[in-house]
Amino acid sequence: MACPKAVKPTALAKPFVLSQPEYEPGKPIEELARDLGLDPSGIVKLASNENAFGPSPLAVEAAKRAIEQGHLYPDGGCFALRQKLAQFHGLAPGQFVIGNGSNEVIELLGHAFLGPGDEVVMGAPDFVVYRLVTLLFGARPVEVPLVNFRNDLRALARAVSAKTKLVFVSSPNNPTGTASKAEELLEFVRSLPGTAVCAVDEAYADFAERPADLRPLIGEGRNVIGLRTFSKVYGLASLRLGYGYSTPELASLLDRMRQPFNVNAIAQAAAVAALDDHEFRRMCVAETRKGLRRLEAGCAELGLEFVPSEANFFLVRVGDGARVFDALLHRGVIVRPLKLYSLPEWIRVTVGTADQNERFLRELAAVVRC
Ligand SMILES: *Cc1c(COP(=O)(O)O)cnc(C)c1O
Repeated sequence: MACPKAVKPTALAKPFVLSQPEYEPGKPIEELARDLGLDPSGIVKLASNENAFGPSPLAVEAAKRAIEQGHLYPDGGCFALRQKLAQFHGLAPGQFVIGNGSNEVIELLGHAFLGPGDEVVMGAPDFVVYRLVTLLFGARPVEVPLVNFRNDLRALARAVSAKTKLVFVSSPNNPTGTASKAEELLEFVRSLPGTAVCAVDEAYADFAERPADLRPLIGEGRNVIGLRTFSKVYGLASLRLGYGYSTPELASLLDRMRQPFNVNAIAQAAAVAALDDHEFRRMCVAETRKGLRRLEAGCAELGLEFVPSEANFFLVRVGDGARVFDALLHRGVIVRPLKLYSLPEWIRVTVGTADQNERFLRELAAVVRC
């Protein structure tokens, strides 16, 4: 059949689709192995803030059991997980919105609140997905420079206008690893006009010394949502599970925006079990803090500046970040270059196991000396 004169899909797309930037993930181990003809088992990936200690063993057991029922649709309402989260946080089951990674919850915020003409206030740099989701809905990112690698809460508050629908703050911040002080964060949220929803991204809060407790703000009925993920301290990044907790009104609003079966049953089962795996969680936090201290000391010995971090990664200043990233790649160590985050002299490094950390320090020493 002859093809009727098809208009190019690019001409049919919404105006901001064509200018939408792509997310660049950390390079997968298998891809680097193919590119360089290396043995995947010799490659160390410290690029995506994954958990070096693997998934929670209790979660793995639960996931295996769940796949036996793989022919059935999952519980779209995530009943068991909501119950567990409610206990864990001391909130009601209706105060959660559960997503395919907390990235999906960020997108749900866009679905619910953003359109052309709206503004979204965020730090620069902060997690790049805030900007991507803002642009995806045709809204405008208002980026407020960090000061000393920290979110400048006062400046963020000043940047909020009548057009601002959302404000994003990650604490600890990704990519810098710095956490906002708990009292300052609470004061910041209270200072915002009621017309803007504030999302506090707590992806790394488990690793922080004294993370803020958002529950008083939620209790006061503020437009605030805490974002959490199972991708980091619970080691379940591949299963894609994250959630937001907020007022019942905001949670149920976002819940309407999701696909009916957005979270698969294996991830739900694994997450329920992971929340009971206190042992694993404690071990990961303790080992990560120890590894971070070791990496910081190693970088100091090499005379390299670093940003003290409260997360499971840190920034180190290597001069030419792109060169060092590339040289490390060729030695089988994947880190994150930060040109996209406007930090071209720095690389971001995830804390690994003790062996991986030593390997990184050895390769880094060889690379910065030449
Ligand atoms: C890793 C990360 C997330 C989690 O994303 P998922 O979609 O849950 O894997 C969210 N926010 C920040 C700042 C992160 O670094």
